[in-house]
Amino acid sequence: MSDKYDLLVIGGGSGGLAHAQRATEYGANVAVVEYGPLGGTCVNVGCVPKKVMWYASHLAHDIHHATSYGYDITIGGHSWGRLKARRDAYVSRLNGIYENNLDKRGVTHIVGSARFIDAHTVAVDDREYRAEKIVIATGGQPVTPNIPGAELGITSDGFFALEEQPKRVLIAGSGYIAVELAGVFNGLGCSTQVVVRKDSVLRDFDTMLSTELMATMRKDGITLETAVTPASIRKTDEGLVLSAEDGREFGPVDAVLWAIGRSPNTAALDLDKAGVESDGRGFITTDKLQQTNIENIFALGDVTGRAALTPVAIAAGRRLADRLFGKMDGRHLDYDLIPTVIFSHPTIGTVGMTEDEARSAYGDDVRVYSSGFTPMFYALGEEKGRSVMKLVTAGADERVVGLHVFGAGADEMLQGFAVALRMGATKKDFDDTVAIHPTNAEEVVTMR
Ligand SMILES: Cc1cc2nc3c(=O)[nH]c(=O)nc-3n(C[C@H](O)[C@H](O)[C@H](O)COP(=O)(O)OP(=O)(O)OC[C@H]3O[C@@H](n4cnc5c(N)ncnc54)[C@H](O)[C@@H]3O)c2cc1C
Repeated sequence: MSDKYDLLVIGGGSGGLAHAQRATEYGANVAVVEYGPLGGTCVNVGCVPKKVMWYASHLAHDIHHATSYGYDITIGGHSWGRLKARRDAYVSRLNGIYENNLDKRGVTHIVGSARFIDAHTVAVDDREYRAEKIVIATGGQPVTPNIPGAELGITSDGFFALEEQPKRVLIAGSGYIAVELAGVFNGLGCSTQVVVRKDSVLRDFDTMLSTELMATMRKDGITLETAVTPASIRKTDEGLVLSAEDGREFGPVDAVLWAIGRSPNTAALDLDKAGVESDGRGFITTDKLQQTNIENIFALGDVTGRAALTPVAIAAGRRLADRLFGKMDGRHLDYDLIPTVIFSHPTIGTVGMTEDEARSAYGDDVRVYSSGFTPMFYALGEEKGRSVMKLVTAGADERVVGLHVFGAGADEMLQGFAVALRMGATKKDFDDTVAIHPTNAEEVVTMR
């Protein structure tokens, strides 16, 4: 038995749903295959529950500083279980909203795991579905290392499943998920240790950001160990112990969390049946129009290995629908100048080139402006937080090619500046913009 659609989307996450819904606005007959809860990584085990946990941990920070504002606060405790129950209920509500949205738009939701039969046919269990166009938006999953005892650790997926707060945690990894989850654990009172393979966290970002974040993590009580290559984990009576290749041991702890990268969900797809090519790591290769090597098959979001962020998957999905079904020839996502935020403590916002990238691209034609200060929030207390910013400019007209902000409010600050960078703003445009006072953001337009 076979059903026929204009469009079949594999994966009901950020990119797949955005694409499917936009396609229906142009009248396409659409089906989405998804085996898990709708919303994908972001809604279920990514951005959304992560930001809830960040809020919880950020509240602990603000409560800690409340005495300097005259409050006499006694915290009776914190219930991880209550927080998780409320967070899960919120995520379930979102799953329901996504389901309703598909219903309202007449999108068929096929529950199950999709695999290709040929370039126009996909099977889910023993039923086959044919489609004119097929979009692969299957996202990715966290990887664990191939070492003895690795299974004793959890990943970010396991983090969201934790029913109880581990008292002692070790996180292996240096990317944004590692530092974000370390901040959450630490803020909520866990003894938190982070081990990284090289010499710093956030190595893909401007070095100013990683230097500042490492200093702040340590100041906040997180133990950060560098040059650690995990070799094994073993269970002892006191807890889990991680051994490194150089013989060092870390632990005992109640939980080890692997945050060492993500791999694409392509293994189950039988891509070869449709002739779709992927790279050595399994990411599906596409051109700038999200087209795979097969004419009627497209891929978008994390499964393509490019800028693994929710708004990127959504934007790529909507633009692809505009092009395929909305007659907007050539419409596609420009992957340059994508702003992003790291929900560390404090937050980091960044858009454009790092200083090193700009120097490689423009040589001596680069000028950098930076600023470091204590945000006013800390003015009344003994404990001081810090904010630093860097503006990277290139060329005689000093076009701003990068902006990097570490400090309170960075998360909400960057969106507007990202628009300015896309419009080609120069340092003079920043200088000519009147500051908003008193804010941390005003420093961005007053750097000299
Ligand atoms: C801990 C964490 C925190 C994050 N925080 C942020 C953040 O703050 N901001 C941000 O922008 N991004 C964040 N991300 C990244 C973001 O979640 C992803 O970039 C985004 O979800 C990618 O969307 P997608 O549509 O490509 O894939 P996904 O959202 O992963 O959706 C893919 C879907 O495909 C389904 N699927 C896979 N294979 C099959 C199959 N064979 N058949 C049927 N269905 C299948 C999966 O079940 C899944 O639901 C975070 C990620 C993680 C892990």
